[in-house]
Amino acid sequence: MAAQETVDHKYVYDFAEGNKDLKDLLGGKGANLAEMTNLGLPVPPGFTITTEACKAYLATGAEPAGLADQIEAHLEALEREMGRRLGDPDDPLLVSVRSGAKFSMPGMMETVLNVGLNDRSVVGLSAQAGQNDRFAWDSYRRLIQMFGKTVCDVPGEEFEHALEEAKRARGTTDDLDLAADDLRGLVDAYKKIFVKHTGREFPQEPREQLDLAIRAVFESWNAERAVVYRRQERIPADLGTAVNVVAMVFGNLGPDSGTGVSFTRDPASGAQGIYGDYLANAQGEDVVAGIRNTVPLQELERIDKKSYDELLGYMARLEEHYRDLCDIEFTIERGKLWMLQTRVGKRTAAAAFVIAGQLVDEGLIDLNEALHRVNGAQLAQLMFPRFRLDHEFDPVAKGVGASPGAASGKAVFSSDRAVELAAQGESVILVRRETNPDDLNGMIASKGILTSRGGKTSHAAVVARGMGKTCVSGADELDVNIPQRRFTVGGHTVGEGDVISVDGTTGKVYLGEVPVMPSEVVQYFEGTLDAEQRDNPLVRAVHRIMTHADQLRRLTVRANADTADDAARARRFGAGGIGLCRTEHMFLGDRRELVERLILARTDDERENALAALLPLQRTDFVEIFKAMDGLPVTVRLIDPPLHEFLPPLEQLAVNVAVAQERGEDVAKEEALLAAVRRMHEENPMLGLRGVRLGLVIPGLFAMQVRAIVEAAVAVVRDGGSACPEIMVPLVGAVQELETVRAEAEKIIAEVVGESGVEVLIGTMIEVPRAALTAGQIAEAAEFFSFGTNDLTQMGWGFSRDDVEAAFFWRYLELGIFGISPFESIDTEGVGRLVRIAAEEGRAARPGLKLGVCGEHGGDPDSVHFFHSVGLDYVSCSPFRVPVARLEAGRAVVETTGSDSR
Ligand code: PEP
Ligand code: MG
Repeated sequence: MAAQETVDHKYVYDFAEGNKDLKDLLGGKGANLAEMTNLGLPVPPGFTITTEACKAYLATGAEPAGLADQIEAHLEALEREMGRRLGDPDDPLLVSVRSGAKFSMPGMMETVLNVGLNDRSVVGLSAQAGQNDRFAWDSYRRLIQMFGKTVCDVPGEEFEHALEEAKRARGTTDDLDLAADDLRGLVDAYKKIFVKHTGREFPQEPREQLDLAIRAVFESWNAERAVVYRRQERIPADLGTAVNVVAMVFGNLGPDSGTGVSFTRDPASGAQGIYGDYLANAQGEDVVAGIRNTVPLQELERIDKKSYDELLGYMARLEEHYRDLCDIEFTIERGKLWMLQTRVGKRTAAAAFVIAGQLVDEGLIDLNEALHRVNGAQLAQLMFPRFRLDHEFDPVAKGVGASPGAASGKAVFSSDRAVELAAQGESVILVRRETNPDDLNGMIASKGILTSRGGKTSHAAVVARGMGKTCVSGADELDVNIPQRRFTVGGHTVGEGDVISVDGTTGKVYLGEVPVMPSEVVQYFEGTLDAEQRDNPLVRAVHRIMTHADQLRRLTVRANADTADDAARARRFGAGGIGLCRTEHMFLGDRRELVERLILARTDDERENALAALLPLQRTDFVEIFKAMDGLPVTVRLIDPPLHEFLPPLEQLAVNVAVAQERGEDVAKEEALLAAVRRMHEENPMLGLRGVRLGLVIPGLFAMQVRAIVEAAVAVVRDGGSACPEIMVPLVGAVQELETVRAEAEKIIAEVVGESGVEVLIGTMIEVPRAALTAGQIAEAAEFFSFGTNDLTQMGWGFSRDDVEAAFFWRYLELGIFGISPFESIDTEGVGRLVRIAAEEGRAARPGLKLGVCGEHGGDPDSVHFFHSVGLDYVSCSPFRVPVARLEAGRAVVETTGSDSR
């Protein structure tokens, strides 16, 4: 019975049987060929072998039962439709065998053209083409070359050499000068190469050619370059590719034939119009290989008006049908237009916004759909400064755009040199073959990082993204010579100190300094554009889509900010308050010494003096921030410094004391300091005396902060402003900790608030796993929870957030243990589960409990969707990411309620 089921399984679909929604099964190319066929567009007939057949083949190493018969049946139908038989000696049908996965993987998998040609059918092909021997033999030699290389692993260079040899013998450098006899000779030479490498003759049986080509396409799913590409683009490894078997049409049959590509809008800017290239008397491969220069598509109007008009009609039809930018491949065979491929076209971030806006104007999509079609990563890209590029700047190399941004600086080839030059105030770009954890200091010191190896998950890429630093990885045209401190590329040599520029968005590398221009999208958010600039299509589209996202979203977006400047900027970027003001950041710089005095105080007097000195400073800080956020909530977190950040480094201090003792100097004070630092030294400061623990150990510390916060709020209100302080206690693991702090804080609040009408909330961070698991108890003492997902990730996984990203995450990403760093995007299954439990149990204990998140994940697109699904009230992120979070919070609503994608 099982065997019967497999036999019945449908592995092959005629184009007329599929449609565009069957991409999982038919791949993108097959699904869209089917869609065009059903729209009545002139698609060469053919059929698609499903991704399921590919998966079955890859799992067992053999074609699944029934596949061969189904191919036979569909081939017969194709032969009937074309009125020709595959490989028929007199009037042959030829087919192309093309890969096509669900997600486009350009150039990563295989294609074999002209299948069906052999020593006999080559004569029939010549007759079909009007006794064009040259064309027929050229097609045959192309088949042996592609088949040999793709199906039988014959080294491609051998064929290239033979071709060069033939051209040399003819005294030319151009393929087109080879005559029919030359090409016939070349076919003989190719066949010998084939025999030499495979130990067998080139297969003459057309069906055998077809079956072997199909297998080769299946297998190309697991070719190394395809695997690497999938890893980089996060395409799942288990999808498999479909195989399209399509009747060949020829664009190289003379001046009334040709081939081209076209876009229904400009994929770079989104502008409406006709964009594309055309190459007369050529096959698609010639366009890709860039052997001859194409002409702009508009020229086709002059060359073949009938085909041009027909094509424009189809383009309009496709765009209306897909309701999106389409890209199209076509061929004209002796004046007859054939549509070879279409798909919703790739586009730049700017074009994504512009096109979505235009399609709304044209009534093709609604605003929900427009919002669905753009994303936060694209918006973030538009917010980075860009290079101001004109014709003077041609890239010398292109790698992977691993971490966005634009950076120029002097090339350096070692981390030590990067640190040295940066210390002298130079901008540097660290150039390495690949980086490793030893390069960390150099990476920190550099404006940008450039490597010649590795992709988006290489060490360089992961660490640079974590730092928000521009990085181009895997620019493999660069020949990097570290000992000689130089690299060469395209005949240029760049030595240490030579200025280069890298674009972490496009992956392009330039010689010299490329000027940078600010992002107009940032200027729009900042409100610094004039009326004319606001009218540009990109700004209009961003405005419209952002406004819609704001209307839809259920999550409020707050900012993490600890200065009035950051708060003001966040507000301009659309923040609805501050979700995290890290007060320990206010204790750095000049004030570090006061904190040191406080921590090391041996007597009550010493401590109280230090606190008294800090109080007015803190009060001023808070007044400024409340003013910047007038009327909006501001969550101030009580101090949470890992102690090591405030104490002098132990080793350094010990050395200083020893040296001073040696010199016979009076070191009593330093010795006392050293003893205190020794006493407080921690092996794991991130798991040590921080947060609420410190507040409970140092009497008066939290009290001073609470007083400063409330006094500041009262001062602002007395001045006619409006302050909404929320006091947040960090690192709570047990409700008793919170209750103790709360009791003390409430006394101070009652005393200070007086008649001012200021309302103060007291809540806690949930960032220790125990807090998440006892959230029901903790909620009794908290008016709000804010999830500290940085610490929750650190403690949930048990790895140090300061060390591990650089140490081993790149390897985990390479191995696929992580799809993405859990510090970047929330681990929904583990850490996310803790969030969900705490949210549910917290709200069960205290209905209406306000819930937010203030870890870095608050600005990460996928995480925002997760927090929306958990039902949080707000996310809080760095000011720069506020627009991204607003957009994604709106998209999360569309995702759950649906858009009008028909
Ligand atoms: C957190 O842990 O997520 C958090 C916001 O606090 P911090 O990063 O300051 O530890
Ligand atoms: Mg924390």
